[in-house]
Amino acid sequence: MRDAWSSHETWVFECVNCATTWEEEFDVRHCADGHGGEVELFEHDGQRCTTPWIDHVCPGCAGQNVKARPASWRRRTTAVRAPARDDLELVFRLRRLHAY
Ligand SMILES: [Zn+2]
Repeated sequence: MRDAWSSHETWVFECVNCATTWEEEFDVRHCADGHGGEVELFEHDGQRCTTPWIDHVCPGCAGQNVKARPASWRRRTTAVRAPARDDLELVFRLRRLHAY
């Protein structure tokens, strides 16, 4: 039984270094791997490419510390723009220092 299917996905990338964000669109081919699992093949402009979450370079600073996530995920989280967790941890650490 062959059950390959395709989907079109938009991925959002965010550079950890300089906070540049950009989007890229992929065609994803979902294929059975013959062992009961599923293989996803990513195509970008008709070209086979690596998975969206590896080997991406920031167009702003050429940094390779890039986070990737599906665009559909972003829609659910835009309302909550949490402050950077590092800032919070720093605040807690400073408070602890004051307590000494
Ligand atoms: Zn960057």
